[in-house]
Amino acid sequence: MSINNVKGTHDIIGKEAENYGYVENIMAQISSFFAFQPVRPPVLEYSELFVRGVGESSDVVRKEMYTFLDKGDRSLTLRPEFTAGIIRLIVQNKLIPVNELPLKFYYCGPVFRYERPQLGRYRQFNQFGVESVGHNSPYADVEVISLAYTILQSLGLENVVIKINTLGDETSRNAYRNALRDYFKDKVANMCEDCKQRYELNPLRILDCKVPEDQMIVRGAPKMSQFLSLESQKRFLKVLDALREMNIPYEVDDTLVRGLDYYSETVFEFHYTSQKGNNYGAVGAGGHYDKLVHEIGGPDAPGVGFSFGVERIVNVLVDDGLIDNNPGLNLDIYVMPVGEESQARAINIADDLRLLGYKVDMCFDNVKLANMFKRAEKKNAKLAVIIGEEEIKNDTLVVKNMATKEQFEINVDDMEEKIDAMFTKKHHCCHDGEKEDGHQCCHEEKEKHHRECCEGDECECQKEGK
Ligand code: AMP
Repeated sequence: MSINNVKGTHDIIGKEAENYGYVENIMAQISSFFAFQPVRPPVLEYSELFVRGVGESSDVVRKEMYTFLDKGDRSLTLRPEFTAGIIRLIVQNKLIPVNELPLKFYYCGPVFRYERPQLGRYRQFNQFGVESVGHNSPYADVEVISLAYTILQSLGLENVVIKINTLGDETSRNAYRNALRDYFKDKVANMCEDCKQRYELNPLRILDCKVPEDQMIVRGAPKMSQFLSLESQKRFLKVLDALREMNIPYEVDDTLVRGLDYYSETVFEFHYTSQKGNNYGAVGAGGHYDKLVHEIGGPDAPGVGFSFGVERIVNVLVDDGLIDNNPGLNLDIYVMPVGEESQARAINIADDLRLLGYKVDMCFDNVKLANMFKRAEKKNAKLAVIIGEEEIKNDTLVVKNMATKEQFEINVDDMEEKIDAMFTKKHHCCHDGEKEDGHQCCHEEKEKHHRECCEGDECECQKEGK
């Protein structure tokens, strides 16, 4: 009997995996422009970290953690989110007192939650996110919202709706919790079992209940805004004013409380509906926290962060036609040896072509030419390079343009020049091998030159006086 993947996990293969890399690279690049640095905390942490950090009343800790005893009887958990682990890393490595604040980190990797698998909801999924730790400025909140918004814009996602709310400071939240307890006191007996527990542990969580009958009751509950301290009101207004000034659109949603217990003050979510009208819900979310660093054994230091669901963002991009999921390889060149004795020569040529900067694959099967052409088409190859007995003898290659079907023979010595001439892509920055100022692009530096031309820097070969 074959063995399948674990329920709620998914395999990411070929082009799809490339899409994940593409999305994560853009996220990392933009984060580094905002002066965030990468961190890679471990997947495994002591369970206590999440119980203390994420909070006992959160669904994540109560129901969704992958927790087990290791062989030394220690309770370990596969991280259900990154924030607690990053704060642990900051506290343990004593990063706060010695560095300028805020500390700004970004991360990416898998997280694990025992949830009911459904569209866009997995048990192992990937998150990309940031934490800005150690500064209480409302503009630290604005900076991370702006970063998230810039990332989504750079990916081409135009229909982002930013929902934002404030949970206030501790005094405001305590007052609000009491008001919620009063309101739900005579109603909770008729609500779901989860809400009964939430009532005891943290009545704020009831506002997040997805049961339709409970949501009707929640609708009549008092609103956070009625209990905000003056300080929290001012802080929130500063955040909203700055977002408005920066042309970052938002909707204040006073029902937004977020599912993790550590949040205070600003909380936000990024919602997305694709051009076709498919609603993906939240593709990312985050907020400010006051007590988490202290809770995990560090000094009193606030922080703010967000996390994107990478799966959801990749799915949205495919849905909107911004990236394709076509499994084709999009080869530049497919090398086709005719006869087994040509294979050794073919692998040599393939290698040389790769060193020239082309994406090259070769056929390892001793099959008919027609069959190899079919494979070249399937791999979307732009050129086919054919090598047989004759070509080896004459030190030549047969090159076929797969689009125009033109075919001609070239000498191996002229390979670079002839093949380059068939690819315009290398020279879209400098016409036909020439920079706009007429400088001839030297071959050795071509790839580097291409990159640097495109980035507007001085051409490397020019610097060297070639
Ligand atoms: P959270 O850590 O709960 O604030 O979630 C941050 C983001 O991760 C959400 O906005 C979703 O995009 C994504 N996400 C959360 N849970 C899942 C899941 N089970 N499967 C896929 N993505 C998820």
